[in-house]
Amino acid sequence: MKDEEGNPEYCDIWAGGPHGWLCTCFSKGYVERNYDTLMLHGAVPDGAYLDVFAVVPGDECYDPLHRMTRSESLAYRAACFEEIRSRGMIVSSEEPADWAVPYLDLVHHAPHALIPGPGSGPAIGVPIPLFSLVYHDAVVVPWSLERGAWGIPESDLGYLYGLLNAGIPYLSIQPNDVEIGIVRALAELHGRVGFFEMTGHMFIGSGHRRQRTEYSDGTTVEVDFNTDEYRIVAPDGTIVAEHPGK
Ligand SMILES: [Zn+2]
Repeated sequence: MKDEEGNPEYCDIWAGGPHGWLCTCFSKGYVERNYDTLMLHGAVPDGAYLDVFAVVPGDECYDPLHRMTRSESLAYRAACFEEIRSRGMIVSSEEPADWAVPYLDLVHHAPHALIPGPGSGPAIGVPIPLFSLVYHDAVVVPWSLERGAWGIPESDLGYLYGLLNAGIPYLSIQPNDVEIGIVRALAELHGRVGFFEMTGHMFIGSGHRRQRTEYSDGTTVEVDFNTDEYRIVAPDGTIVAEHPGK
């Protein structure tokens, strides 16, 4: 990939060492090569994670042999996602950007905007589930459980956002019983409403710390980021799960 002056793009901030960028017009060929090669070795993955393709804005390339606009770059990335899907594999990438939702099954995470960020600090503004209100039934989003996990405001528990957004839970390699209980509550909720739209979000009481979401079957989830309380209520009014908080 070359910039407007015709120079190769260059970067050395990652652990992989100094590197340029492959122009996205060539990417699909390498995706095909990689999974053909794995198949020749008898390795058939269930899915593939094409890192950063969803989250990074479109690239431009000024190489006269293969000029590329930002829109073309996103179309080339989409072709890579579709190549994975055409092989019957689960398609994943880093973050749920709207242009990529039609091509994705799941993502790595959906972090909130934080200061100093990108992954840590207090929230910029009041985090609310705007993305889920549009796309909840279209893409699976996992959530870290801990307070102040990557993309989670430092004062807030990650699993409360996971519940509010009815996402799926990350699970530690060696979880304790408390974590397993939380994971079960998240998994049960996602099993219940994972394919339903989020149809409502509201603040409860004064301030913004107590929030409620509603799903198209009538299930509601209420969380309190100050007290760590949560309550999941089924359409018939039955309490499915609740925790009294701190
Ligand atoms: Zn190019």
